Amino acid sequence: MKLILFGPPGAGKGTQAKMLIDKFNIVQISTGDMLRDEVQSETELGKSAKFIMDRGDLVSDDIIFAMIKKRIQMSDCNNGFILDGFPRTLNQAIGLEGLLEDLKIEIEKVIEIEVDENLLLERINKRALEDKNTRNDDNSLILKNRINVYKKDTVPVIEYYKSLRRLNTINGTQSIEKVFQDIVKIL
Ligand code: ADP
Repeated sequence: MKLILFGPPGAGKGTQAKMLIDKFNIVQISTGDMLRDEVQSETELGKSAKFIMDRGDLVSDDIIFAMIKKRIQMSDCNNGFILDGFPRTLNQAIGLEGLLEDLKIEIEKVIEIEVDENLLLERINKRALEDKNTRNDDNSLILKNRINVYKKDTVPVIEYYKSLRRLNTINGTQSIEKVFQDIVKIL
């Protein structure tokens, strides 16, 4: 099972991805997690990405694309994967099309978890208060920027899949279990 999962920051994308990988025995390809690993390991890539991520802006398409190209060809992806946090720009989406064509891989489902902006801010503020290991980019000011970046760069990608009639939209304001059920139904 190969899918793309879209959702704004705070939509619960990570939670759903974890539940899906357990149920379907597939892997999660999260560009955000991959970048945070690079930052943690203090690699050159990590050092250059850190400031951009801390601001809530997007890392360059070239870096992301090189990471994905390598990751998607690893053998653990054969049984299926969830693209989480990628493609995030139209340029990345076009690049992905070419890559998938070259590798003869087909994405079966494109899913968007939709959540209203006010609820997102509420959720993330709560998370910032509760979690001591808060991500550097998880405070409300930066979050606002992440939401704006999402609207500006990623909503056009969602519109693109919609225009191809490939988009499935799920109501992300429901309980975690209900959102999960809705996704499983589509799959
Ligand atoms: P979110 O919780 O908003 O979904 P992620 O964990 O996916 O965020 O990503 C965190 C940060 O990593 C982003 O704000 C961005 O700086 C960087 N990033 C992750 N994926 C991409 C991508 N596909 N293109 C550019 N930047 C990315």
